[in-house]
Amino acid sequence: MLLLVAQRIIEAEPELSEADRRLGDGDHGIGMQRGMEAAIAKLNETGDGAVIADLFGAMGMAMMSSMGGASGVVFGSMFRAGTKALKDSPTEFTSRSLAVLLEQGAETIMKRGGAKPGDKTMLDALVPAAEKAAELVDLPLPQALDQVAATAEAGRDASCNLIATMGRAKTLGEKSLGLPDAGACSVAIILRTMADFANSAA
Ligand SMILES: [Mg+2]
Repeated sequence: MLLLVAQRIIEAEPELSEADRRLGDGDHGIGMQRGMEAAIAKLNETGDGAVIADLFGAMGMAMMSSMGGASGVVFGSMFRAGTKALKDSPTEFTSRSLAVLLEQGAETIMKRGGAKPGDKTMLDALVPAAEKAAELVDLPLPQALDQVAATAEAGRDASCNLIATMGRAKTLGEKSLGLPDAGACSVAIILRTMADFANSAA
């Protein structure tokens, strides 16, 4: 699942670069691509017997150490939050794992970056997705992920209507209206890919 996430983000580099070019400095797509290439290498060398928490941890660390910039810390933290959160279910990724992962990820990022929902950042996709996941812990993972991904996509779309007060576009003020946040685009792709993987494996 994580390898597919990495591959889809790499494929989305042009659209993520474009989204950040329009509202920021344009480095988001390339940064994410670099992070995901490092993540693929790290996942492939993380040996047999690794539990799920190790895989999320390896992915997060690879992103943090390779990407640079705010996105490296933010997205690396999102995956790395999994190392603590996923200890309860070491060998099966469940709807509850998803909920805990997203909740811890969102909390860590808010604490570290000081942004909150409504500031036009990746949190506008991640926080509603985390809240949705918390409601769906009793659903089978494929169905839960479908709804969580749809919620993240709605959050990404709704970020178009926000005036940036934090993050890449905060200096643009009202000029940031009408376009989505590039980080919210990445969150939506990550969760949609997880949903596609879970549904194809189901
Ligand atoms: Mg940028």
